[in-house]
Amino acid sequence: MLKVLQNLLDLQGVDVRLNEVRARLAKFPKKLAELDARVAAARAAVEQSKAAQLATVKDRKKYELDVEQWKERARKYRDQTAQIKTNEAYKALQHEIQLAEEEIARAEDRLLEQMVAAEEYDRQVKAAEKALKETEEITRGDRAKIEADKAAEDGDFASLNAERARAVAEIPEELLDHYERIAKKHDGLALAEVRGEKCSACGMIVRPHVFQEMRRTGSEELFHCETCTRILYYIEPGTSAAPAAASAAQASSPAES
Ligand SMILES: [Zn+2]
Repeated sequence: MLKVLQNLLDLQGVDVRLNEVRARLAKFPKKLAELDARVAAARAAVEQSKAAQLATVKDRKKYELDVEQWKERARKYRDQTAQIKTNEAYKALQHEIQLAEEEIARAEDRLLEQMVAAEEYDRQVKAAEKALKETEEITRGDRAKIEADKAAEDGDFASLNAERARAVAEIPEELLDHYERIAKKHDGLALAEVRGEKCSACGMIVRPHVFQEMRRTGSEELFHCETCTRILYYIEPGTSAAPAAASAAQASSPAES
C-alpha cells in the first residue's frame, strides 16, 4: 500500500477512536444531570411531607382552641344555673350545657384524629428524610464512578489527540484538507476499503483498470470512489488488514521494508 495511504488510514483509525471518545464524553453532562434530578426529587419529597406536617400542626392548634372554647362555654352555663329562677329556664340551660358537652366531645374526637394523623405525617417526614439520605449516598457513589469514567475518557481524549498530531505530521497539508473535507461529508470516514472489487462503503463497483492500477506495485496515484468520493485503499490478501497493526509491524521490523 502507498505510504501516504497508510498514513491516511492511520489517521482515520485515530479519528474513529476520537469520535467514539467524543460521543462518550458528550453523554456525561446528562448522566450527572440525572443524578442531580434524583436528589432534587428526594429533597422535594421531604419538603412536601414537611409542609403537610406543618399544616396538621396548625389544625391541632385550632382543634385545641375549639375544645377550650366549648369547655369555657359549658363552664359559663353551669355558673349561670345558680341564678336560674324558673324550671323552664333551668331546663333550657341544661339543654345548652348538654349541647356544649357534645361539642366538647366532638372537638376532642377531632383533636384525637388529628394527633393520629400527625403521627402518620411525622412518619412520612422521617421516611422521606431517610430516602433522601439514601439517595444522596447512592448518587454520591454513582457520581464518583461517573467522574472517574470521565477522567479516564479525558485521558484517552488527550492521548488520542497527541496520536492524531503525530499522524497528521506525516501527511502533506493539501492532502489533509482533502481528507478532512471528505471525512466531514461521510461521518468521519474519508477512506473506504475495496472489497470484492467494490467500494465497501457504498457498494459501487470499482472499474477494473482502476483496481489493477491500485494493485500495481509502485503505483503513486490516489483513487476515489466515483459514487461516494471516498479515497479507496486495497489490502492484498495475506497482508495485515489492521492499519494500526500494519504500521506497528513496520515500525518494529524496519529491516523488512
Ligand atoms: Zn463509494
